Amino acid sequence: MPHKRSTDEVAAYFSELGRLRMLGGDAALDFANTRHWRDGREIDFLTGYPALIDWAVVAGLLSEHEHDRLGEAETLMPLQAADVFSATVRLRDIWKIHLGEATRTTITAPPPSEALRHMVATALGPQNLAIAGLPADPLAGADMALPLARAALAIGAFLALPHAGTLRMCEADPCGGVFLDTSRSQKRRWCAMDSCGNRVKAQRHRLRLKAEAVEPAKR
Ligand SMILES: [Zn+2]
Repeated sequence: MPHKRSTDEVAAYFSELGRLRMLGGDAALDFANTRHWRDGREIDFLTGYPALIDWAVVAGLLSEHEHDRLGEAETLMPLQAADVFSATVRLRDIWKIHLGEATRTTITAPPPSEALRHMVATALGPQNLAIAGLPADPLAGADMALPLARAALAIGAFLALPHAGTLRMCEADPCGGVFLDTSRSQKRRWCAMDSCGNRVKAQRHRLRLKAEAVEPAKR
């Protein structure tokens, strides 16, 4: 299976697009971070239903067992899987809009929009799918919407429950990654020092060299 290798204790999802570490500090934020910017290009790690369920295991939203059953179901019901996948991406994108607004306000977090609340409530699924999970009997089939329902559950929990740390957006530009700053100093600025932090520092260094190179010519 392509997932659940970890480096420095942070779980990471590996795909043909590269490595995506779970740096958000919460599954709902890791969900938002599946789409972000790198080197001036937007990367979406959710490329289809198979990628969604692979990622969901690493994010802690699906068990390995659920993943395997959904993987089998996907081959039998590709159209349903495609519908669930589209709905999941829509939920993520509206969730990202909310997080963008929430990280721009410093005073009080904006309430979730009607559209977001409706989407989360709908995505939680029939018969409490998010909580009940798949039927124990494999012959009963698998509800393909489970990864969507679990993502909605994570968002609902994030919105409703108190959480440690401050919600922030990575200062590397452009990145768009969100995370909970649980550092004591409350000064975490990047998704990770060894990625976004270093990129910002290298960029500043290049600009400084450029400025120094330009200066003598002015004299
Ligand atoms: Zn970042």
